[in-house]
Parts: sequence; C-alpha cells; structure tokens
Amino acid sequence: MAVDPSALDTSGVAQLCADLIRIDTSNFGDDPRTKPERPAADFVVNFLNRYGYDPILIESKPGRANVILRVPGTDPELPALVVHGHLDVVPAVAADWTVDPFAGVMKDGYLWGRGAVDMKNMDAMMLTVLADMKERNWRPKRDLIVAFFADEEAGGEWGAQWMAEHHPDLFDGATAAISEVGGYSVDVEGQTVYLIQTGEKGMDWLTLTARGRAGHGSQVNEDNAITKLAAAVARIGQQQWPLHLTDTVRSLLTTVSELTGLPFTEDPAHLSALVDALGPAAPFVGATLKTQANPTQLDGGYKANVIPATATAAVDMRPIPGTEDEAHKIIDDLAGPDVDVSSLVRYDGYEVPFDAPIVERMSEALLAEDPDAIVAPYLLSAGTDNKQLLPLGIEGYGFVPLALPADFNFSAMFHGNDERVPISALKFGTRVLARFLAQ
Ligand SMILES: [Zn+2]
Repeated sequence: MAVDPSALDTSGVAQLCADLIRIDTSNFGDDPRTKPERPAADFVVNFLNRYGYDPILIESKPGRANVILRVPGTDPELPALVVHGHLDVVPAVAADWTVDPFAGVMKDGYLWGRGAVDMKNMDAMMLTVLADMKERNWRPKRDLIVAFFADEEAGGEWGAQWMAEHHPDLFDGATAAISEVGGYSVDVEGQTVYLIQTGEKGMDWLTLTARGRAGHGSQVNEDNAITKLAAAVARIGQQQWPLHLTDTVRSLLTTVSELTGLPFTEDPAHLSALVDALGPAAPFVGATLKTQANPTQLDGGYKANVIPATATAAVDMRPIPGTEDEAHKIIDDLAGPDVDVSSLVRYDGYEVPFDAPIVERMSEALLAEDPDAIVAPYLLSAGTDNKQLLPLGIEGYGFVPLALPADFNFSAMFHGNDERVPISALKFGTRVLARFLAQ
C-alpha cells in the first residue's frame, strides 16, 4: 500500500471528541430527561458528508437516531467488519465534577467530559480515520460497516438492538465487530499489557415480587409481603457464588502470573493478588471470577401502620457466560416459594476466541505503535452493544486502543465523575485503529 495508514493527521481528534461531548446526549432511559441522540447523529452525518460519504440516519423513534455507513474494502472476498460506537452517554451531575461535564475542556494533557472514554472517544477516532481515508485516498481491507448507535446506556432497545432487529440487512456479510470496552493498556510489574475484551458476562435484571395479606399494622399478620421480601433479598445478597473461571479469565490470569511470578491457583488469596496486579483494571477483572447478584432496589408500602399486599425488589445479576439458566434457578430457590422472580431484561453472556486472526491483527496494530507491549484477553463484567449483534452471527470484540499512563484510574472513568482521557491516548488509538483497518 502506498499510503501509510498510521501517518494520518491526528491533531484534530481531541477537538472532534470535544465537539461530540458538547452535544449533551444524556440517556435517562424512558425518563423524559433523556436528551436524544439526534443532534449528535446530525453532527456525525454532516462530518461524513463533508468527506464525501453518504451515511444513513435511522431513527428508532423521534430523536433516537442511529447512523450507519458502509465503506467498501479492497478485498471483496473477505467478510465485512462492523466498527461501532454509541452516541449516548450516562448523565452527569455537574456539581460533582471539577469541570463542566459537557464543555469538552482540555487541560493538563487530558480531554475532560462525559463520554471522554464512554465512548465519544471511539466515535471521534472512527471519524478521524474515515476522514483520512478520503483525504489521503486509501481504503480499508475489508468492507466496513461503521455504526453510531443510540441508547447503549439504557440497554440498546432504541439503538443496536433495534437496528439488528429492524435492519439486519445493513449488517450483511459481517462476521466480526469491534467496539468498547477493551484495547486499553495496563501496567503489570512494568510490562505494558493491552487488554482485548473477548467476552461479556450475562445480564439478568430481576424483579422480585412478594404477595401477602394486606392489613392494619397493629394486628397479627403471618403473611406480610414486606417480611417475605426482605428475607428473600437478604438471602440473595448474601449468596456466596462459587468460583467459575472461564477460558478468557484463565488465560488472562495465566499471563499475569507469568509476568509477576505470583502463583495462579484457586486459592482466593492468590486470585485476589493476581487481580490486584492489574492495578486500575482490577475492578473490571475482579467481577469476572464468579456470578454476582446485587439487590439494587426495594419498594413496598405507603404508610407506617399499613401492611401492603405486595412488595417488590430489583436484583442486578451478572452470570458467568453459559450459566444464565442455572443462575436464574438459584435465585428462584433463594427467593423461596412466596416470592416470584421474573426477568426484566435478560441477555446471555458470551466469549469469542482470543486465538483468532482478528486478534492477531489487533495485536500487530498495537505492537506497531508500542513494540514492547503484549496483549491479553479479558472478560467484561458489564455489557456492550456487541451482544445485540451476536444474533446476526457477528462476534464482538472490545477494541478501543488507548495507551494509558500506568497510574491512570481508567475503570473509574466509566460513568464516573471527572471522566477524562489523555489526548495522547486518543492520538495513539487513532493511529492503531487506522493500522488495524488497513490490514
Ligand atoms: Zn459505553
């Protein structure tokens, strides 16, 4: 190839990301405070139009806009690759921040704002690479299906899920996808390790409903919905889930063990030492060794002297991939016969291969920019839009390449206060992305 993809001009990527941050797309779910993605989608469409692209904007409902663009690759024999980001962000409370979360402030070498890592950073990196393809006249090797989705932060109902269900044809020919959350660096004993996300835990948001006999608070009542619910919630919250190390987690911990000399056994002390060695990524990895089920909401009653007929609770369960049914059954048993358990939202987890050509290409692109680094897989304890594309036969990887300072608390940036990203990391990621897409 005559053009070196990594020689692209990255000087505008931080400003582009700042421009996106300034378009407040806070997603409060069904709440009317939600700021729809349409203005950000229009911004993306206008940007792409300026470079001669003709993207499609699709609203799933008024204001909830998705943008999709197909870019032909140089090798039509190869399957297409989906490269996607989401345009919405979680809300931010300005009083808890040291800067305005929607101003796109640049200071101390960082770009600050809601979406700086989740994930207007990737949106800006994608746009920068697409612009460069036109400016310097090069093409990706594979057909790219570039998507900017709505509604990821509320589960994707109006975004990736809606697009996959209503416009599956737009993803024709794709077998793999890249998106959040992976491709960032951690420091393990002085060794830079890029963590490629190769799986996600399942998600099962549960509603517990206890029914009993309503009555006066002063009377004897052996059938009190509040008492039954509280007991069920306590059993679920105190459940000790067994250790369950998936192939991805074993592979990562093996790498950490080799780098640190720490033993890798199933002894909890050994496991927590290995997880801690991952520094700022420890919270991400620590939640992937077993299923978790956290009670998160309680609702019942309306007056101190009235026993209500029903009481409800919510539980956020994140099962190890492949154990979703079994985990749901355990919750049923813990809830007991007097409390109904139903799934409000449920997605099964998945793992995709680390030992795969696409990961080799990620690795090559990363190592071309950071030659002394290594790559390792990890399982995400949370969810991404990659899940929504799985039913279309598209295997999703978390690959938003970022070279981060060793002491930078990256996992705390997600949905956190003072979310920010090093500007150098944005530039690095853009070069890696260009290299990856050119291969
Ligand atoms: Zn995200």
